[in-house]
Amino acid sequence: MRINERVDRIPLSQTLALDARAKEFVAAGRDVVNMTAGEPDFDSPLQVREAAKATIDGGRVRYTPAPGRLQLRQAIADYLSRTRGVPYTPQEVTVCHSGKHALSGVLLSLVHEGDEVLLLAPAWVSYVEQVRFAEGTPVLVPPRPDMGVDFDALEAAIGPRTRGLMLNSPNNPSGYVCTADELARLADFARRHDLWVLSDEIYGRLVYDDEPYRSLVQQGDDARARTVIVDGASKTWSMTGYRIGFLAGPPNLAAAVGRLHSQLAGAPNAVGQEAFEAALTSEAPEIEGMLKAFDERRRRIVQGLREIGLRTPFPGGAFYVFPAIDEVWPGGDSAAFCEALLEQEGVAAVPGSAFGVEGHVRFSYATSMEQIEKGLERLGRFLSVRKG
Ligand code: PLP
Repeated sequence: MRINERVDRIPLSQTLALDARAKEFVAAGRDVVNMTAGEPDFDSPLQVREAAKATIDGGRVRYTPAPGRLQLRQAIADYLSRTRGVPYTPQEVTVCHSGKHALSGVLLSLVHEGDEVLLLAPAWVSYVEQVRFAEGTPVLVPPRPDMGVDFDALEAAIGPRTRGLMLNSPNNPSGYVCTADELARLADFARRHDLWVLSDEIYGRLVYDDEPYRSLVQQGDDARARTVIVDGASKTWSMTGYRIGFLAGPPNLAAAVGRLHSQLAGAPNAVGQEAFEAALTSEAPEIEGMLKAFDERRRRIVQGLREIGLRTPFPGGAFYVFPAIDEVWPGGDSAAFCEALLEQEGVAAVPGSAFGVEGHVRFSYATSMEQIEKGLERLGRFLSVRKG
């Protein structure tokens, strides 16, 4: 069969491909330290699991409205109002099959053929492909060395067809968290160039330095009106397999994505919706423990990487570190680095090139402290063999 060109151009997600590669090594009997994980290694909170079981046992497993149950959209609006400090209504919310599904729904609804969309690099692997699939042109904007926003590069990237900006703070893969000053400047930038902003806040709760919740929507009425938030159940509540995400933005956009999904996919799964509602309605006590564990691992892995000699920006959020390898790996080819590291030491990591930034590698610390120690030890050996 002949595959449609737009679909045929889509490569398999590099992170999923790498994870599969690491699993092949494991199947072949190798002892692999897998540091590619994009999901928390914790159980979902008890209240989530109980709600999921009660939904099934109660037989509430039929179709729901395509944009999600009204009760859940209300719970999401209340959650956003509470965490972002800006009021939201259910009419501004559409529930989707995942955060990824919410992102693609927004892009398919906002991007017109030939529109340029600025992506602040490093940018999560799916952004480029999703913008392309929506018939837009992704424009990667390089970061500062500390992975913060380079405003000169951002201004230089503006062209006559620029219509949108995608922002992801805390960032995957760097863990960088935008400062209040950066958000104020981004709001000003979007206003001056009349851009919509897609703010991927899926790691918004995973911050470790007692920072308040920061979102672009807090930067005044203009920023609020031109920003679409995407968030979901996967990371904060360790619910990756439940597949529930959402968008919050102008009512006409929320409705458009709801219509699109009503034809393409139908309602998100009923069990996931009720489970997520239970997650939002009262703070799960498990979250505090998860944040504490992530924070300890973050400090340990940054210290370990720096001791080995890798220049490592200190990440404020998410569960990734993104050290530079250019000083230890001539040419900085991150894919070759990851290939050799997996081959020689059985440590799996994701090359920065997958996120549009060469000379860096992403290590996930969504794995046990024992695995982190083992990974650091092997990485140290890998680099010392090269030096020697
Ligand atoms: N956005 C970012 C930056 C991510 O890293 C992920 C998952 O890895 C997602 C969105 C989507 O998550 P999900 O589709 O599980 O909701």
